[in-house]
Amino acid sequence: NIRVRYAPSPTGHLHIGNARTALFNYLFARHNKGKFIIRIEDTDAKRNVEGGEKSQLTMLKWLGMDWDEGPDKPGDVGPYRQSERGDIYRPLIQELVDKGLAYESYISEDELKAQREAQKARHEMPHYEDEYAGLTAEEKAAKIAKAKAAGVKPVIRFRVPVHKNYTFDDLVKGHIEFDSDSIGGDFVIMKRDGMPTYNFAVVVDDHLMKITHVLRGDDHIANTPKQLMIYEAFGWEPPVFGHMTLIINTRTGKKLSKRDESTLQFIEQYRELGYLPEGMFNFITLLGWSPVGEDEIFNRKQLIKMFDPKRLSRSPAKFDAKKLEWVNNQYMKKTDSNRVTDMGIYQLIKAGRIPENPDAKTIEWARTLIGLYHDQMSYAAQVVEESAVFFTEPPKLDDAALKELAVESAPTVLQKFAELSKQIKIFDAVEINRVIQQVRAETGVKGRQLYMPIRIATTRATHGPAIAESIELLGREKAMHHLAVTLN
Ligand code: GLU
Repeated sequence: NIRVRYAPSPTGHLHIGNARTALFNYLFARHNKGKFIIRIEDTDAKRNVEGGEKSQLTMLKWLGMDWDEGPDKPGDVGPYRQSERGDIYRPLIQELVDKGLAYESYISEDELKAQREAQKARHEMPHYEDEYAGLTAEEKAAKIAKAKAAGVKPVIRFRVPVHKNYTFDDLVKGHIEFDSDSIGGDFVIMKRDGMPTYNFAVVVDDHLMKITHVLRGDDHIANTPKQLMIYEAFGWEPPVFGHMTLIINTRTGKKLSKRDESTLQFIEQYRELGYLPEGMFNFITLLGWSPVGEDEIFNRKQLIKMFDPKRLSRSPAKFDAKKLEWVNNQYMKKTDSNRVTDMGIYQLIKAGRIPENPDAKTIEWARTLIGLYHDQMSYAAQVVEESAVFFTEPPKLDDAALKELAVESAPTVLQKFAELSKQIKIFDAVEINRVIQQVRAETGVKGRQLYMPIRIATTRATHGPAIAESIELLGREKAMHHLAVTLN
């Protein structure tokens, strides 16, 4: 009975990397008809962000995931927030203390710092050194009594076995071994405020929540031996681990980092831009996982059916914003035009292009505009940029456009087009096309030399949706204004 979990710390919005972790756990659970559990790891009160949990859950739902147990969906092994599980952790910590496997530590921050500096001078990795080393039982008792009298609150440290080998078979990385001496010494399992640390709580929760597989980012791989030690101390069976490789930003060649603000990395930002959740879902699954074969476009159902953690990649996943656009465009094209229109209108309102409560005429106008771009769109906000020509003063012509206008016949074509356009009664695409054909008949110019000057003079760009429709949307006034500016 497979049970997996996604265990976010509510420290902010849902990041692409975390969404991937959630998604792989979700796919693994659904593929195996197992259970997918959400657990909130909020024991570090300083790092928790107001609304962080809600925003995470909202974005998971938006992406198309559901879960079987979680803070909003209590099951048998709750509560599902670590901050509410103090009564579960405390006796277990006491059990380790009673067995001599953990102990109170009164060492101060200053003493720890002094240890680290001395280690640095000796070119050693920083580690905790037994604060009671070399003390007799009386001396140790006296030291503790003194600290207590001074009001020092202890942490509880786990006694790391000396020179012991820990191994596990990682689903992604294969066989992994650690020497217990390399992990930095006895580590803290309960903080001064009485809260357990991540490494302790995660073990207790995964065990009590009957988690069978832990799929998480490989930034946690160094924690795994510590967790294995705690499993061992309690005599519990550890789950199977799978550590997913980090994600590289193809644009910078570096790890996708929340600090790099030039790359959008939060799911919420993509939703706001009008990306489709289905497209995001598909794209994220391709980060470090690959289906069999060449195809890359799969819906949720297909992905659930296909998902196999053995195909998780051992080399870093590549985050490529261009690919994300391509994947989303595949979905945009298949999406019902009403939905795309609604998304586009939202963007046009947000950009101030149309009023907040557009009237029926404006909506119809927007529908036509969005319809023209629909197939080219990767995300709805593109309609704002792509349609700039319909809203702003004539943009400057680029070199490519100037070159097109430099052909000898261009002025003749444009003059004729301007002249005939003025006579159009109903300024629509049908009439505009008719006029273009008339220009062709009267000037004898055809093909690119006919269409390009007309397109550029009116829309001021060398590419865009169908020409007559574009000019219709621009409206007579604006089209003629642009034309006049070009002819001058
Ligand atoms: N709360 C941890 C994190 O957000 C989860 C680590 C784990 O899955 O064990 O990174």
